[in-house]
Amino acid sequence: MGAIVAYANGVIGGAKDVHLQVDLDSGLMRGARQVASPNCDARPPGMEAELIVVHGISLPPGEFGGPWIERFFTNSLPLDMHAYFAEIGELRVSAHLLVARDGGLTQFVRFTDRAWHAGRSLYRDRVACNDFSIGVELEGVDTIAYEPAQYDTLAKVVAALCDAYPRLSADRVVGHSDISPGRKTDPGPAFDWQRARRSIAAAREAPWRG
Ligand SMILES: [Zn+2]
Repeated sequence: MGAIVAYANGVIGGAKDVHLQVDLDSGLMRGARQVASPNCDARPPGMEAELIVVHGISLPPGEFGGPWIERFFTNSLPLDMHAYFAEIGELRVSAHLLVARDGGLTQFVRFTDRAWHAGRSLYRDRVACNDFSIGVELEGVDTIAYEPAQYDTLAKVVAALCDAYPRLSADRVVGHSDISPGRKTDPGPAFDWQRARRSIAAAREAPWRG
């Protein structure tokens, strides 16, 4: 594992020399801004992260930059503000990480805990992917290109998670639509998997990782 070159306080967006690293004891990502979501519980005994699930989310749908995803994950969405908020406001969901349009990274759930991001899901022959996965939300919608800064941060996230959890690898990254087909479409056709794979490979080979 490479030496820690720099920590950030949630300013990874735009800061090229910021390196992310998982603290194995706490399950926290150093370099990410921390906001605790109550929408999580313990993983089943013996389970650890072995799959990364990429999602897309925006609130209201198609609008970027507001505080609403964070409010949603902390059960404090103002229900009277938008019809869609009233529709989803009682749901109890979260993800481990959120990558904003500018690449900014926020952690809501410890990697040692089970975030409620995937719902009914199947990966190969295993159901209930929340048990053994890490959920990464990208702020976006299925049909609008994701930002270069989001691919950069996602690649750094995947590299750091692969360093931390031996069962993870660059090819154990799937979309929500892959594990919940027919029910979920995110991150959608706008998500460029080839670009993501290239960015992840480059991040994995970064010289400081040693
Ligand atoms: Zn999703």
